[in-house]
Amino acid sequence: MTFTGLYGAPPAVVADAPGRVNLIGEHTDYNGGFVLPTVIPQRTIVELTPRQDGRFRVWSENIEGPGRQAEFVLGSEAPTKTWIDYVQGVVVALRQRGFALGGADMRIASAVPIGSGLSSSAALEVSVARALRSAFGLHLDDVEVATAGKWAENEFVGAPTGIMDQMVSSLGAPGFALFLDTRSLRAERVPIPPSVELVIVDSGVRHRLVAGEYATRRRQCEEAARLLGVRELRDVPVLGLPRVEALPEPFRRRARHVVTENDRVLQAVAALRANDPAQAGELFYASHASMRDDYEVSVPQVDALVEIASAERDVFGARLTGGGFGGSVVVLAKHGSGRAVAGRIAERYRRECAAAPTVLVPAM
Ligand code: ADP
Ligand code: MG
Repeated sequence: MTFTGLYGAPPAVVADAPGRVNLIGEHTDYNGGFVLPTVIPQRTIVELTPRQDGRFRVWSENIEGPGRQAEFVLGSEAPTKTWIDYVQGVVVALRQRGFALGGADMRIASAVPIGSGLSSSAALEVSVARALRSAFGLHLDDVEVATAGKWAENEFVGAPTGIMDQMVSSLGAPGFALFLDTRSLRAERVPIPPSVELVIVDSGVRHRLVAGEYATRRRQCEEAARLLGVRELRDVPVLGLPRVEALPEPFRRRARHVVTENDRVLQAVAALRANDPAQAGELFYASHASMRDDYEVSVPQVDALVEIASAERDVFGARLTGGGFGGSVVVLAKHGSGRAVAGRIAERYRRECAAAPTVLVPAM
């Protein structure tokens, strides 16, 4: 259904925001550390006409059945445990920051795969905030758009995620990785060298325990930081690893992942700047091994995908991207080989793991 079909006239504004893939720096953002994500070409689009009576009517093309249509009233937002909470959460975040909103008719349509670890949630939050900014002339910068989105997801939806997804959706640009210090929110664009191409392969596996496991890892990191006498694990440099090795399990391995992963982000930034894809690829493999063995957020099918990718001649590196427990693998391939590599990896994975992969080759 088109916007005009839904509401009787074309939208006053149209805004959008991309999904993302994290190149390296996983489970570091809620430890105050470094991340290196980039945007994908798939985006969420929000068409919007402002209202002045406090009503919000929202329709999503990506939801099946009657639940695709939802309504709420400004000032009476309440969590429903459905997708509309992401929209309500952004509205509440903006209200709390003192912005005056009047209500809106909205239509949402997204090409970002939902629940694949490519952050359809941040794409939704950022595109909604951008549409409201444009419709109501809000003086809101791109970092504030990101923090409003994070607030919506953490406080309204109740998902304890870090700031990476919203920051890259709001500040990222095609062809660049966003080197982000999640403590200071200082962000720097690092060009992705023309020698490489990214391939994303979704394993098709979804773990039901993701939210619980995520919360457990967060608590373990906080406890490890407390045992080490630092504010956050970000404050432990690689030189501090001997002290990490002395921690009891599971804190030793959890902290070792975060400390070494932060260092790998810095090394990967240097490798991209030096146009050294082989070195960047080695860091991808090391990151995957650390997530698998120390952080324990991988699953056998995802490990198989990385293994299959590593046997390809034109592949520099591969790793689980996103929170884990299923989801997608990001592959660093030789420029020009992306489609062929993706096809062969998907074919072998389908055959050997009897699973259904989805492949994305974002043109850089
Ligand atoms: P991911 O961000 O990795 O895709 P999440 O579980 O964090 O996965 O977010 C997915 C949820 O975000 C969906 O279940 C839905 O509630 C909401 N969502 C994302 N995109 C849309 C959309 N286009 N329309 C409606 N809801 C959406
Ligand atoms: Mg998400």
